[in-house]
Amino acid sequence: MKSNSKNTLEIYKLLDKSNCRKCGEKTCLAFAGAVVLDQRQLQECPTLPQHIIDQLTGRIETHPPYEPGLKYLEKLKSEVVHLDLAVAADKCGGIFSGARLTLKVLGKDFSVDSQGNLTADIHINPWIAIPFLNYILHGEGLPLANEWVSLRELQDGRERYPLFQRQCEEPLQRVADRYTELFDDLIKLFSGRQVERHFDSDISVVLHPLPKVPIMICYWRPEEGMESSLKVFFDATADRNLDTDSVFTLGVGLAHMLKKIARRHGFSG
Ligand code: SF4
Repeated sequence: MKSNSKNTLEIYKLLDKSNCRKCGEKTCLAFAGAVVLDQRQLQECPTLPQHIIDQLTGRIETHPPYEPGLKYLEKLKSEVVHLDLAVAADKCGGIFSGARLTLKVLGKDFSVDSQGNLTADIHINPWIAIPFLNYILHGEGLPLANEWVSLRELQDGRERYPLFQRQCEEPLQRVADRYTELFDDLIKLFSGRQVERHFDSDISVVLHPLPKVPIMICYWRPEEGMESSLKVFFDATADRNLDTDSVFTLGVGLAHMLKKIARRHGFSG
């Protein structure tokens, strides 16, 4: 099973990359991402030859937004059988107890047993379960570098960043503009921590979706003649303690969850 972003890039490679906007998307990369999310059809790109459309039809794994493949999740669970959970807990900043490895995920307990069964104090969504399993299976467990970087600076992040902006940073910015309690929610509901303001932002909040993969959200309020801005940063070790696709999945899943919370409070964006 391929991840969303990898699938997106495979489609992108087949487009003519002119960013002509005839499909209604601002860029060819955005169009490829929308095809994977089942929001656009290949036929909507008038420059894509029919034989490529025929070749791709039925081969694209589409996913609803923010829900990476369930088959991939099952595959990762099956790999846990071969893992020494006690050693992994030590490496990942977790606890091994009662034959389970438990990590704090956004402040809540999230556990796996030796058969790959997951239990948690929060809803087990694929967008969190897949990074959790990749983290314990393949993460290097490095100490944090304490250097904040954008997704574009992580390995292979540059090509993934435009889609990340569209699916994570821009929706979060719209929420922050209109739902003023967003940052309070991050702190209260998800054990976020307001930190010293970074990069001249008005507010900086750090969350821990995984112990060694912190995320910092920085928000700049609108000023006269200038729109607001919101950027998401990761520790420079994020692509080694996890992997860039899982980091992408975490950011987009988080944005989707926060949007849902804001909607419950009457935000309609
Ligand atoms: S119509 Fe095709 S070539 Fe033009 S921007 Fe959209 S995907 Fe790219």
